[in-house]
Amino acid sequence: MTKLCVCLIERTPEAMLSAMHSLPRYVHMVEVRLDHLWQVLPRSAEADLERICRNKDRPVVITIRPRREGGLYEGPEGDRLRLLRRAAALGAEYIDIELDSVAELGEIPAPTQRIVSYHNFQQTPSDLEGIHRKAAGAGAEVIKIAVLARDILDTLPVLALLKRHGSTVPTIAVSMGEEGMPTRLLAGKFGAFLSYASLAEGRDTADGQVPFRQIEEMYRFCRIGPETSLFGVVANPVAHSMSPAIHNAAFAEVGLDAVYLPFKVTDPGAFLDGYQPHDLKGLSVTIPHKEAMAPLMDDLGELAARIGAINTVAIRRGRRYGSNTDVPAALAALEGAACRAGLLPLGRRTVLLLGAGGAARAIAYGLAGKVGRLIIANRTVSRAEKLAADVRAEHCGLERIDRLRPDVLINTTSVGMYPRVDESPVPASMLRGGMVVFDAVYNPLETMLLRQARDAGCVTASGIEWFVGQAAAQFETWTGVAAPRELMAKVVMERLSRG
Ligand code: NAP
Repeated sequence: MTKLCVCLIERTPEAMLSAMHSLPRYVHMVEVRLDHLWQVLPRSAEADLERICRNKDRPVVITIRPRREGGLYEGPEGDRLRLLRRAAALGAEYIDIELDSVAELGEIPAPTQRIVSYHNFQQTPSDLEGIHRKAAGAGAEVIKIAVLARDILDTLPVLALLKRHGSTVPTIAVSMGEEGMPTRLLAGKFGAFLSYASLAEGRDTADGQVPFRQIEEMYRFCRIGPETSLFGVVANPVAHSMSPAIHNAAFAEVGLDAVYLPFKVTDPGAFLDGYQPHDLKGLSVTIPHKEAMAPLMDDLGELAARIGAINTVAIRRGRRYGSNTDVPAALAALEGAACRAGLLPLGRRTVLLLGAGGAARAIAYGLAGKVGRLIIANRTVSRAEKLAADVRAEHCGLERIDRLRPDVLINTTSVGMYPRVDESPVPASMLRGGMVVFDAVYNPLETMLLRQARDAGCVTASGIEWFVGQAAAQFETWTGVAAPRELMAKVVMERLSRG
């Protein structure tokens, strides 16, 4: 079973031990980064080391990483190697020794094992296999290869290396950087010896490390194995996506052996080709790939084909099926509010749609032909004109909207979105009692537009309903199981209210 190893970079031996003792039992081991205690060895070095080794409460990796390999240690090499040998004599389960220093280290007493490590902070070299072979030839009990991923495609040879060797030679292979995160989260699926995690946000020893609580509580790291199905969101940027939190919570709730990852992707076609053989079963697709993904599908839903944009990929028996859950989810949120306002059916109502970007496009296609009058207003009028022509609607510039008296107002501009929360796309005087106001923006939870609409007696629908609705429909497309909608909404609300 792949172990979870937390890297400790505290500045005193007491703090190292106290951090170690505070960790839950699912953290199998810790890496004690002594180069964060000492840049050159102080007189107390041996006593400090002894204290740590005698008071450890789980297996430890002792590491004194020199500057040339990305660590902080600047002292003489002889001192460093002597202390590593001493760590072995004191019963450290593992010591980390760099590939270019292992020959000088010499013999160490059993049962301590050597993690022979190779780091490359510039790139993913083409000869990972050769590096692995060299480390094995140097007598490594565990081989560690950590290389920088400049693109998510760089993770593929790293995962392939793990798959080839993980079951025979204990191997740690990790892609550093945000793009490399899948190699950390999927260590258990590919048979890695361990995966490194940080103690907390901002306490990482390598770029891309994930805090241990998140790795276990959100991604359920300890349950991921060779059979685990893979899902994720394809986006760029992806770091702030809420989708991993809501879909992983949903998988856990219904007891599926599945994990959902953030994939920072630049080339969606190459990504699909590379990850599909690794049990990839489904994807959420978001900015900027919704349109580029559509032609990469084997089959497209009718709506997705008409819009030319997808937000959902399901992979079944090797075939890619693309669909769009944005549209039905937005319509459901809107129709719910219209029903509460007594405005159904919408066939004779006037709908004013603000914005002409991706969100507006989804809603415009959903509403086309279903409402009495659809007017699209946008800051860049030419974009409104183009979208209006595509769906046979009217259009105008934002300066003319206060002359309109719509029954339904929908905001899909980003006005009012965090951090500019004190802005609204319309003057409050436009808002009348009985009107339906739907804001696509979901961060903050209640936008200024929705607050003013509520005060004016309008019936409101929030972007949260839309967001949760599209995610729930994706979950159902992938699994065929009813989505735990209340839980999904709760996860979103909790994350948004945390700010
Ligand atoms: P997008 O394609 O980038 O479009 C942005 C739209 O906002 C454009 O119409 C743009 O007008 C307009 N805009 C931006 N700044 C403006 C300003 N200062 N004044 C007036 N108009 C402005 O983005 P999108 O994907 O459509 O997303 C738009 C919003 O909807 C975001 O807040 C997003 O989070 C939200 N959204 C929510 C959901 C959900 O599930 N609830 C789904 C999708 C999107 P120009 O054309 O003139 O630039």
